[in-house]
Amino acid sequence: MMDRRQFVKIAASLSAAFGLSGLPEPVAAALRRIDPRTVPTLLYLQGQSCSGCSISLLQAQHPAPLALITKYSRLAFHADLSATSGGQARELIERYCRGEAGDYLLALEGAIPEKMPQACKIGDVTLASLLESAARTMTAAVAIGACACDGGIPGAEGNQTGAVGLPEFLAKRQVDKPVVRIRGCSVHPDWVWQTVVNLVEIGMPALTEAGAPQRFFSRTVHETCPRYHDFQQEIFAARLGDSGCLFNLGCLGPLTMADCSSRWWNGGTTWCVNANAPCVGCASPIFAKQKNLPFYRMKKKA
Ligand code: SF4
Ligand code: SF4
Repeated sequence: MMDRRQFVKIAASLSAAFGLSGLPEPVAAALRRIDPRTVPTLLYLQGQSCSGCSISLLQAQHPAPLALITKYSRLAFHADLSATSGGQARELIERYCRGEAGDYLLALEGAIPEKMPQACKIGDVTLASLLESAARTMTAAVAIGACACDGGIPGAEGNQTGAVGLPEFLAKRQVDKPVVRIRGCSVHPDWVWQTVVNLVEIGMPALTEAGAPQRFFSRTVHETCPRYHDFQQEIFAARLGDSGCLFNLGCLGPLTMADCSSRWWNGGTTWCVNANAPCVGCASPIFAKQKNLPFYRMKKKA
């Protein structure tokens, strides 16, 4: 026999997985009764990033973004979404980081310029110093996107800022707080919001060895690719736009753990290979790292 609290927890996670519209009315009704005053707070900071992950997150469909940041979590601050700005915003962020504003989950998008801290500031305070404070006060963190997880494009070989991801930044400071890594450039909204709801309502999700939620990152793109049969029959595209498997054009689907080929993107309408673009491995820890592994490559002729 489950009590009401357990029921609401399960209902909340189901809502993120399947969308409120697909739930039986009693469950949807229970979700509507969740008290917004009791949901945890998200402090969303951005480092060296293009804001592409934030834009992608706003494409969430079930539940819609507004419900996700007002009903199922409480957004304390986000540079693009919050009305608060200027000194008021800086003071708010600093209060959270000092632990003076209550419990919170940290969400970080973008890399941290470790060798050049002045390259990324919020007001006159470096992101690195804010994160050093947050490391002591946050409950847990979600690293959102390739840059926040592993340095991504700002951390590419030869970069001048010494850009690193949040896990490496925290490990160097001997901080042992849970960090969920959601890779991608950009991230799929389902990957983030379903993880946040899981953290809020149930707890830490099961993670892969690479620290990513198993639910989304335990199979390769290749395994469920609609062109897998072309791969098996050695029907390969010779140029972008050709039909057939994109392996000879450098597709990294066989090396990349992500469910893009079964989940699809943009509300389930398309994804990279469906648009005739090889998977560039944006959900892989090695994404954009090495100069000798460019996004597009032709297989060398024998
Ligand atoms: S297109 Fe890429 S992911 Fe799809 S079968 Fe070919 S190599 Fe695998
Ligand atoms: S298919 Fe590959 S490149 Fe495209 S979003 Fe998924 S992991 Fe990234």
